[in-house]
Amino acid sequence: LLEMNHVQKSFDGLNVLKDISLSVKEGEVLSIIGPSGSGKTTLLRCATMLETMDAGELNYLGNKAVWNNEHGKAVYATNEQLKKIKEYYGLVFQSFHLFPHYSVIKNITDAPIHVQKKSKEEAYRTARELLKKMGLEEKENAYPYQLSGGQQQRVAIARALALNPKILFFDEPTSALDPELTGEVLKVIRSLADMHMTMVIVTHEMAFARSVSNRIIFMDQGVIAEQGTPEELFNSKNIRMKEFLGKLN
Ligand code: ATP
Repeated sequence: LLEMNHVQKSFDGLNVLKDISLSVKEGEVLSIIGPSGSGKTTLLRCATMLETMDAGELNYLGNKAVWNNEHGKAVYATNEQLKKIKEYYGLVFQSFHLFPHYSVIKNITDAPIHVQKKSKEEAYRTARELLKKMGLEEKENAYPYQLSGGQQQRVAIARALALNPKILFFDEPTSALDPELTGEVLKVIRSLADMHMTMVIVTHEMAFARSVSNRIIFMDQGVIAEQGTPEELFNSKNIRMKEFLGKLN
């Protein structure tokens, strides 16, 4: 469903992503783990074009964009292709990013109505179905400030799903939450996995990554240092991987 090829990104001479290639299959849950500063968030931001890579390629089911800054030309893709690529994915941030002055239901229906040009009826119907799945059907008229962090994050997940993405990216979805609220968000992500939603999850929740993922990537200093099934990764002989897991225990 997604291929990233030879992705490179530097910030002020700091090589944050050094020739990263990866692929995500339909229905797969891929977790990205690794020490702070290893480039996980940057990789996710490049995959979703929030960050412009210096060089590399994105390929969403044959819709390609190629970046190469070497010769002064940044991106080889038409606006039409870039727009199409953006329709493939949804994104859930660490800090929710809900519109504070919109009610819950307006947060969820805004893009379907104004970007996807869906009818109001259809957008509201879908939003209500999603809120029900998130256990938030009572909250459609609430404002974000009236909700707990866990509830806000579940609204953010519903908002991403309302656009019917083929792949959902999560950037540390629980790290802004109190421990007692983390579980309810992880439960929702797990239920999406059970429904075979394709997901890429940057996370520090090792037990969760281990139990929900089909595959895990361990990033270290801008490269994929190790990848495999959860069992392979957690029994890895890779020194850096062992150090990383050791530090967490
Ligand atoms: P964490 O687990 O702490 O979130 P991470 O693995 O997600 O870390 P990134 O956020 O991708 O790491 O950051 C990798 C490196 O790139 C860090 O050294 C960071 O300071 C640097 N960096 C990221 N974004 C920028 C930016 N916009 N400008 C300058 N440097 C940046």
